[in-house]
Amino acid sequence: MSYFNNWRCTDCGKEFALDEVRYLCPDCAQGYAPGVPLPGVLEAVFDYPALREAWQAQPDPRLFSVLDPGFYPTLPVGDTPFFRPQRLAANLNLPELYIKNDSLNPSGSFKDRASELVVADAIRLGINEIVCASTGNAASSLACLCAAAGKKAVIFAPAKAPAAKLAQIRIHGADLHSVAGTYDAAFAAALEYSASHACLNRNTAYNPLTIEGKKSAGLEIFLQLGAVPDWIVVPVGDGVILAGIHKAFVDLLRAGLSDKLPRLLAVQAASSDAVTSYWESGVYRDAANPMSIADSISVKTPSNARWAVRALKETRGQAIRVSDNQILKAQQELARQAGIFAEPSSAAALAGLQSAIEQSWIAPGDRAVLLITGHGLKDINAVR
Ligand SMILES: *Cc1c(COP(=O)(O)O)cnc(C)c1O
Ligand SMILES: [Zn+2]
Repeated sequence: MSYFNNWRCTDCGKEFALDEVRYLCPDCAQGYAPGVPLPGVLEAVFDYPALREAWQAQPDPRLFSVLDPGFYPTLPVGDTPFFRPQRLAANLNLPELYIKNDSLNPSGSFKDRASELVVADAIRLGINEIVCASTGNAASSLACLCAAAGKKAVIFAPAKAPAAKLAQIRIHGADLHSVAGTYDAAFAAALEYSASHACLNRNTAYNPLTIEGKKSAGLEIFLQLGAVPDWIVVPVGDGVILAGIHKAFVDLLRAGLSDKLPRLLAVQAASSDAVTSYWESGVYRDAANPMSIADSISVKTPSNARWAVRALKETRGQAIRVSDNQILKAQQELARQAGIFAEPSSAAALAGLQSAIEQSWIAPGDRAVLLITGHGLKDINAVR
């Protein structure tokens, strides 16, 4: 069973039943064409009093799932390690630092949480094909989870995605369509594909299950820490991990299971900073020329920019830019001080944390959680 009640449009507030809509709010998305942040992204609303009672009897992140966990593929996702990296914490003078290591998911990235829920939906609906645009990780993740469930994954990815990610897509048996342009071109191509094929679309934020799936990491942090942390540090591309973490703590608050939201620190590559500049100026503008070494967060038009900025407002968060040099330096420090080899997009979070400490946004007494979102072996050229 599930405690899901209805979808609600985050722009106009209109509500929909589970199968009444699949992607964006039809009213707000009228006239939408790729190239702007998505309008009408949906959020899930639950039966919060019943959820609260069930959680108090037996806390379990899956109680907050849109779908009955009986539909989930059998490949375990999530439930990743949460621990205190002693040496790194000492060097940062941040004793209450925690790491949530989501690079230990089946395909090596946080994306598996979103793929799991979309594949569960395909199982529920008896749909055999799922399409997705990706810089690499969403695709390797979808290919992996689809393989476990006997579904066909159709991938649109930039031809210059890191080789290891392309290898993952192929070894799991997905159909790979190389797109000559950027990730943003792949996003549009995947939308075109699903408009004319009987399939599900897993494009991030476009399918609200991607946000709901990524939410489980926030619920796990709440359980593993036994409290709401002061800060959670999140690398941001499209802004769906950020929204998922935000939604987890909003749901806990709505259910009366917690009494505050953690502050969110959004970290972006300097050349891919559309969310950060939107947050700072209040005016949305595309990133001019995203070409960071951090491929997983290189996005011109973040699909979930509106929700990302709202999450920062509601949590009294901050957004910050980091350079490729800062990212590479942080990647090495994470590897040498915490024993964690993270891909550049993921190491960006540590670079952002370091800057936030320097600027005194984060104080030595704060409890901060660093999200590790992708495994370093996915992109060894960055290290070379
Ligand atoms: C996708 C991804 C991100 C960013 O997530 P968004 O939801 O696009 O903001 C960060 N790190 C890694 C490793 C990723 O794969
Ligand atoms: Zn709407």
